[in-house]
Order: sequence, then C-alpha cells, then structure tokens
Amino acid sequence: MLPVPVLERCAADMLNYQGSGMSVMEMSHRSKVYDGIIKETEATLRRVLSIPDNYKVLFLQGGATTQFAAIPMNLLKTGKADYALTGSFASKAYKEAQKFGDMHAAFSSKETNFDHVPTQDELDIRPDADYFYICANNTIYGTEYQYDPEPPAGVELVADMSSNILSKPVDVSKYGVIYAGAQKNMGPAGVTVVIVREDLLGNYPLEKYPVMLDWKTMADKDSMYNTPPTYGIYVLGLVAKWVEDMGGVKAMQERAEKRSSMLYDYLDSQDFYKTVAAKDSRSRMNVTFRTGNDELDAKFAKESMAAGMSNLKGHRSVGGMRASIYNAMPIEGVEKLIDFMKKFAEENK
Ligand code: PLP
Repeated sequence: MLPVPVLERCAADMLNYQGSGMSVMEMSHRSKVYDGIIKETEATLRRVLSIPDNYKVLFLQGGATTQFAAIPMNLLKTGKADYALTGSFASKAYKEAQKFGDMHAAFSSKETNFDHVPTQDELDIRPDADYFYICANNTIYGTEYQYDPEPPAGVELVADMSSNILSKPVDVSKYGVIYAGAQKNMGPAGVTVVIVREDLLGNYPLEKYPVMLDWKTMADKDSMYNTPPTYGIYVLGLVAKWVEDMGGVKAMQERAEKRSSMLYDYLDSQDFYKTVAAKDSRSRMNVTFRTGNDELDAKFAKESMAAGMSNLKGHRSVGGMRASIYNAMPIEGVEKLIDFMKKFAEENK
C-alpha cells in the first residue's frame, strides 16, 4: 500500500518527469536527471532514518529473499552465525544461510507456531558468531520486537525490517546491517534496501561467488554496477519524502501505535475473536486474529472483501485473519475494519 499523495505525484510525473520530456521509466540510469533522482532518494532516506555517515545505503534487486543468501556470503568470517527463528521468513533465511557455514538457532518459537519473539534473556547467542540475525517484524504471524536485541560484543546485529521499516525511529548504529524489501512500507516491489556499516564490506569471496551479491561492488558503484530498479527507487524517494513531510518516523510510530492499539483494544474487549500473537510480542503492522472456527474465518474473509477491505485472509500457515496496517493506512481504514468486525460478530455469534 502506498500513500495516495505519492501515487498522485507518480501520475503527475508519469509522461513528463519535471520537464525532462520523458517518464522516469524511460530514463537511462546513467542520465543526469536519473542521477539526481537516485541521489535525492538516498539523501532523503538517510535523513528520515538518521543513517550515520559510516553506513552505505544500497538499492538492490532480487527481493529480501536474495539477501537471505547475500548476508552470510558477505558477513561470514569465522563461518559461524546465529539466528532467532520467529517465523517463516527468519526460518527461510536460516535455511539459506546453512549452505554457507555453521548456523545455530539462538531461539525458536516454532513449537508454539511462532506466536512470540524472544526476550533478551531467552537468546542463546554464541560469542564467537560473526553475526546474530533477527526478523524485526514477522509479517505472517503478527509479532514484532519491541526492543533492539543485544548480541555479545563483537557479534554484529543483522535485521530484516521488510515489514516495519520507516514505522518507528531506529538506532541504526546498533546494527551491522538492516535490510528490507521495499514493497510493504517503502515503495513498489522490485527494490531492496541494504544499510550496511562500511567496515563490514570487503570480506566477500569474489573469486567464487557471483559479483551481483557483493555489497562492496554495489557500494563502490553507488548501486549502479548494473542497471538498478530505477522506477522503484524513484517511488521509494517519494515515499521517504512523504514520511518526512508527515513528521518523520516519530509521527509514523505514533500513527502505527494508534492504529494497532485501536484494533488490539477492541480484540481484548470481546470474546468472539481471539488474538494469535502473545501480548508482549504484538506487531503494530500486522494484527492477526481468528474466530476459532475455520468456516467463519472463511466467511469473514469473503464478506470483508465484499465490503471493500482486501487482503484480510490470514496467511495459509496461520489461518484466521490478518490486518496489515502499514504506514499508508489511514485511521479511518482501521475504524471501518472495527465496525465491520463488530457487525460480523453480532451476526455470527
Ligand atoms: N522478510 C519479510 C519480513 C517479509 O515480510 C517478506 C515478504 O513478505 C520477505 C522477507 C520476503 O521478501 P521478498 O518477497 O522481497 O523476497
């Protein structure tokens, strides 16, 4: 979901970007106009996320899933890394990383169908691991870290923020790497942002691994080693500017807290629907719930769709319902959903 003002601006620029005589889609990535666009996108994202100067910002292709491999390929030195298994994307990243070294699960909530993220005390991180990996917001299960985990000294913290980036302030300096597919909170599908501390670059065995996944090659060429996802980068810049104009990530955090607490407050106040995620792990971006009856859940998905609300059907691995309330979702969208939920509960209890 993208903010309406961003889509309007895309429409206005579509045929003739700022008097250039062409659409951004048609531009050469080597052109002067496009160079201005990618530089502006990076500068805006740096301001909005307060990214320190000793971090590189890369705009890559291949989705977050490609980074599941790129992370161990770029970061392993001793060959060891630890993962917190909190859902299907963290588990997929772990599985991919196992192809490259000695991986260890520092935590897993698989036995309770990934209904919570770990507390700091529950983490069993090896002190000689190269990095410790988390999925900051578990899109499918509706859980989110409410704190920045602290690995032992010397172990880099790596986070997949695909589904909660730009939704709250983040102290980037606590992380070695933050990365995110753009398509939830930052832009259209097709761009993946990697934010990496400079001193972590340069360990990639270029002689045996593909050049496309080497972060240093991409950093040295300002994400233009080959053709970058040009249009997506342009839209991402507009979204970052929208966040800035709305009051920045602090304002996004307030909006996210308001939206999600409206839903959780309603869910906690009744007994027709049950929440899925443990209370202290609840996501502000993806709210998961169910009626406890698969047929009713299916009916809910169908009727909510007919009422103009799409994508409320939960992921197949969890079932039930999932309300994805990313940055662009207005409060009115949540009010409409709660009204629908009340009416549905009344009609089906
Ligand atoms: N990580 C998280 C948290 C996600 O939500 C997703 C997709 O929904 C992915 C990774 C996979 O992203 P992609 O489809 O860009 O590979």
